[in-house]
Amino acid sequence: MSTASAYMTVSGIDIDVIHKQIKHIHIGVYPPVGRVRVAAPQRLDDDQIRRAVIQRLPWIRRQQKELEKTVRQSTREMVTGESHYVWGVRKRLKVVERPGRAHFEVEGDRLVLFTPAESTAEVRRSQLDRWYREQLRRELPALISKWESALGVSVPKWTIRRMKTKWGSCNRESRHLWFNVELAKKHPNSLEYIVVHEMTHYVDGTHGSRFIELMDERLPDWEMRRDDLNGAPLAEEEWNSK
Ligand SMILES: [Zn+2]
Repeated sequence: MSTASAYMTVSGIDIDVIHKQIKHIHIGVYPPVGRVRVAAPQRLDDDQIRRAVIQRLPWIRRQQKELEKTVRQSTREMVTGESHYVWGVRKRLKVVERPGRAHFEVEGDRLVLFTPAESTAEVRRSQLDRWYREQLRRELPALISKWESALGVSVPKWTIRRMKTKWGSCNRESRHLWFNVELAKKHPNSLEYIVVHEMTHYVDGTHGSRFIELMDERLPDWEMRRDDLNGAPLAEEEWNSK
């Protein structure tokens, strides 16, 4: 079964497109950042897919809003036994209450948080957020310099931040790159995919065929890495495409 991947931007929404031997279009909106993925029958060309997506924009926007609400509501209690992901691996949280500065340690399949007994769930969540940022800050320099030398370019500045609908972004004028803090929960291969993707925007700001060619050349398994970023869809719809 042959598949081919592409990207598309419709009304400012970046969409992952995959062509498959299927009968109908499937559109999914994926947590945690509301990524949109379209699986399309091979016979459909870009224009046909674009038209189908435009028709479904209200539905897509609704799903993205819903997802944002769900993510906000499912804020963690930060108590022992909860699951938290670290570099794509599920860890069981263990909270050890003790005075002093809070810190985290990974011990096998446990993520141990040492924190004062009086720290609230909100404080513990921000401690975890800070820890995730540290993980990224530790991994990113080596990855970025690996690709700086491979591609013969330099990244003058990069920043980690929380983004609602993107894993990464790139300002082509300043060459500043941004990475979503959520990447620390995903497999490191996916982080590398985002690094290469954003650095490829230095050459091509679109997600057109040249961009795809460059990605194929630079990171032949980028589609797999990209798809690993998406969890189970919040919602998926299938309909007859004409
Ligand atoms: Zn992009």
